[in-house]
Amino acid sequence: MTKQQGSLSINSDNIFPIIKKWLYSDHDIFIREVVSNACDAITKLKKLDVMGEVSLADDYKGRVDVIVNPEEKTITFADNGIGMTEDEVKEYINQIAFSGAEAFLKQYKDKTNEDQIIGHFGLGFYSTFMVADKVTIETKSFKEDAKAVHWESEGGVDFEMEESSKETLGTTITLYLNEDSYEFCNEYRVKEVLEKYCSFMPVEIYFTNANAPVEEEKADDVIDATVDEDGNATEEKKEEKKPEPINNPTPLWAKHPNDCTEDEYKEFYRHVFKDYKEPLFWIHLNMDYPFNLKGILYFPKINTEYDSIEGTIKLYNNQVFIADNIKEVIPEFLMLLKGVIDCPDLPLNVSRSALQNDGFVKKISDYITKKVADKLSGMYKVERENYEKYWDDINPFIKYGCLKDDKFREKMKDFVIFKNLEGKYITLPEYIEATKKDVVEDATVETTETAENKEEKKDSVYYVTDEVQQSQYINMFKEAGMDALILTHNIDQPFISQLEQSLEHVKFMRIDADLTEGFKEEVSKEDEETLKTKTDALTEKFRAVLGKEKLEVKVEKLKNENVSSMITLSEESRRMQDMMRMYSMNGMNMGTDMFETGETLVLNANNNLVQYVFDHKDEDGVNIICEQLYDLALISHKQLSAEAMTKFIQRSNEIMMLLAK
Ligand code: ADP
Repeated sequence: MTKQQGSLSINSDNIFPIIKKWLYSDHDIFIREVVSNACDAITKLKKLDVMGEVSLADDYKGRVDVIVNPEEKTITFADNGIGMTEDEVKEYINQIAFSGAEAFLKQYKDKTNEDQIIGHFGLGFYSTFMVADKVTIETKSFKEDAKAVHWESEGGVDFEMEESSKETLGTTITLYLNEDSYEFCNEYRVKEVLEKYCSFMPVEIYFTNANAPVEEEKADDVIDATVDEDGNATEEKKEEKKPEPINNPTPLWAKHPNDCTEDEYKEFYRHVFKDYKEPLFWIHLNMDYPFNLKGILYFPKINTEYDSIEGTIKLYNNQVFIADNIKEVIPEFLMLLKGVIDCPDLPLNVSRSALQNDGFVKKISDYITKKVADKLSGMYKVERENYEKYWDDINPFIKYGCLKDDKFREKMKDFVIFKNLEGKYITLPEYIEATKKDVVEDATVETTETAENKEEKKDSVYYVTDEVQQSQYINMFKEAGMDALILTHNIDQPFISQLEQSLEHVKFMRIDADLTEGFKEEVSKEDEETLKTKTDALTEKFRAVLGKEKLEVKVEKLKNENVSSMITLSEESRRMQDMMRMYSMNGMNMGTDMFETGETLVLNANNNLVQYVFDHKDEDGVNIICEQLYDLALISHKQLSAEAMTKFIQRSNEIMMLLAK
């Protein structure tokens, strides 16, 4: 073979700035591209062996070596794969690799940064010129009599080819790093990149630092001196520590679910997600038809309030890592989980926006959604106990899924459960059924009029958002034999709004939204009159003392005479206030007095203190009791402001001083 030179039809003046722009933060992908080419070369050779076109030695083992040389500023990739002949180098490297780069450029030249291709696929071998001034290839094809080839190019524009002295099968590619890219001959940096992209590539990959001090390697060769039977000292060299591949060529997701043990799933989770907590459970996806998709999705345990419920879904293409959390392929709500998905059929050479509109990709994401819903609903039906045990951890995920994905909601809506005041898990229909029973048992006489009213009346579903703060209401509910649902997560408010929209007959009411009939004593006509008189008198009194002209006060006969005062705030007003508060938190000033409206101070006519206030309403001495009653009611409804809290504490001390006198 005579020495050949040539020019590639690529103009370096314009190609590099553009590619650099495209890969600005991902220069490291050249490692993925070159190592995956090397793995492919080995896979191809093994295939030829199976087909009988080549006969490999029985102990043949494909391997890829990545060698850094920090002194010479090089990084080398060597494989014992299929290799290339002279013609193949011309075709695959001079033409395909370079025209691939050109095509890549053409496609992406005018696009904005947002419209990237996923993980910058498509640049291939050419990406080495991002980090190297000079690249050399030594390659020897498996074909009989093929001469080994040396190829080199500086700057990726001109090339030289001549015969190489390489004797072994395969390809060795060496990059002479440019000044800006010396990080890629640093052992730790390269190991990090290998771990990111190559952890599960299908061929064993070994890492070597050519400059690593020799002593360090020898440290393992401990010499043991022993004495044999004849009394002669013998030296026995312990076996050298075998180098370990940096990757796992047979990741768990690629195995059949029946061949995987629980420990393996847990170990894999720990290894990939560096999460010391065990996952709750997992779903092994394994599909060959109509598309290829494998993967494992884990439901993580969220056991501290500081844990974010953000997960990670790692996307692979034939065991080559592409990127984390690709929202174009994986339904958004699934990204709360942790998992790996390998889909060899994914079209990765298209832009992200094209992927989003791709019918095939939609099918993939629908399939994943369906599998997750099937697993959860199956668990509800067959392992209800486990389902309940996991509910506190998985419910934000399920609710988020229902909010984000109609198909998921359709499948899951009947399997949403709620914790009630007794700590039992029930469904919404079960709750409604139970409340209805109570009503029927209570109602002794039912006139046609009330029956009509009932037709219109929605089923009230009472809920608790803060078990500590709302404990007074909870106690009253329990005493009255009523139930409420515990809905303490941020996601619950949007979730119940969605439920109300889809179930027209249901109305959610926070436990302090009104006084249900169950709390009140039955009142006679006469009682009604007295309550009205008391209400009028005390409204005037409390408004004057508290300086709140618009305060609503209502005197009621509550069954529990120990309760003196309560605040109720209609569900609508409270939701409105919550919304306002959210907006003002986001920097919009809505004025604080907007938050004050809609509250009613309920005073219990059956409570002695309230009676005392009424009897002495004309004396200034009861003012302090009025203030205290109002604050006590507020405390079990919401958090006091700093100012109100200070006053409340002062006043409480004053009251105790009065007792002490
Ligand atoms: P792609 O891998 O997408 O085809 P590349 O630019 O990465 O594009 O590589 C071009 C071609 O060069 C490959 O298709 C392959 O035929 C050949 N090639 C690259 N690396 C190797 C290797 N290590 N061993 C054998 N052939 C290789």
